[in-house]
Amino acid sequence: MTTRELFLRHNAQTSEAPLCFEVNHAEGVYLYDNENKPHLDLIGGISVSAVGHSHPKVLQAIQEQLHKYLHVMVYGEVIQTPQVHYAKALADVLPATLQSVYFTNSGSEATEGAMKLAKRFTRRTKIISFRNSYHGSTQGALSVMGSEYWQQAFRPLLPDVFQFDYGSNDVLTAIDTQTACIILEPVQSEAGVLTPETAWLQAIRQRCSETGCLMILDEIQTAFGRTGSLFRFEQCGIVPDILLLGKALGGGMPMGAFIADKKIMDSLSTQPVLGHITTFGGHPLCCAAGLASLEVLLSNRWMETVKEKEALFHSTLKHPFIKGIQSCGLLMAVEFESFELNKRVIDQCISNGVFTDWFLFAPHCLRLAPPLCISTDEIEMACKFILKSIDEVTHG
Ligand code: PLP
Repeated sequence: MTTRELFLRHNAQTSEAPLCFEVNHAEGVYLYDNENKPHLDLIGGISVSAVGHSHPKVLQAIQEQLHKYLHVMVYGEVIQTPQVHYAKALADVLPATLQSVYFTNSGSEATEGAMKLAKRFTRRTKIISFRNSYHGSTQGALSVMGSEYWQQAFRPLLPDVFQFDYGSNDVLTAIDTQTACIILEPVQSEAGVLTPETAWLQAIRQRCSETGCLMILDEIQTAFGRTGSLFRFEQCGIVPDILLLGKALGGGMPMGAFIADKKIMDSLSTQPVLGHITTFGGHPLCCAAGLASLEVLLSNRWMETVKEKEALFHSTLKHPFIKGIQSCGLLMAVEFESFELNKRVIDQCISNGVFTDWFLFAPHCLRLAPPLCISTDEIEMACKFILKSIDEVTHG
């Protein structure tokens, strides 16, 4: 049997049409197949590889840590230096009210922990979220996901969740003194990269402050430079009560985090104690890799080039079959008229050596979220291959 056949038989399948690209190794902005052919990775493992694949500094940090210890104890009991150093480094680049970091295994677990924290701290139950939002796939996270299609098979989910249209002012009156939290992304990625008005985010922030509702900002996909600053909220003039991180947080290793003020976070240690428990959250290898990745990001000028690279994609990707491009930094959705056309373009791109994908709530949009270290030459080459692929599937 081929590896592909084994994959389809023994690895649980959840996709109707898996991309089935077999990765041999990965470096920088390239995935290599078994013939050692490079494929330009335009999605970076879905917004994970901010500093590129297999960055030598990240690999070195993992190597150094793996000779010391792997898992030693469940989260929060013993002092694990990589966890301490990474939490401190994050605190250093975050505002004074985001200084207490709870490391988790994934973005979904960060969502779970944050919602529990909000309920515990406020002693309220009502939660507000938005249509077409994505905060993870576990049942709590699924409860706030904004899509009946993805939720219906798994009901009953969490009660007391109220959903609104992203960008609508109706939500402002719904935030009240019964509301534990509102959870939202500063840019709705899976909706096809929707960027809301800054004033709307600020109005939500203000309403939360007036009512004691905690604002949970999901930056799992937008943080670590992807939108041109370390965190998207820095460009919006707001500071959330709880920040969710994941994806690029681990530098390619699995990791999430929810971050809050210490006085909020401390409520997880009473009534009940151990308000959130995780065995592997904050694994020392992941923290070492994440810290190295953050240091690489801060010591390069990639973040400063994000807007310029975004503009280059816009000016180069012009084709009669492209209906538009929605973007926020290097998080971009190239819109086609249908999923069918988009999927054919994606498959053709893969044959032509460019790796990309679609979006959960915008299947007609092609996803671009390359490592931030992508060069302008590589962007031009990528665009050339995307345009060629569109030509091939529309004229071929
Ligand atoms: N929140 C957002 C905005 C995401 O994009 C994702 C993953 O795609 C998650 C949460 C869930 O993260 P994970 O897949 O690590 O559980």
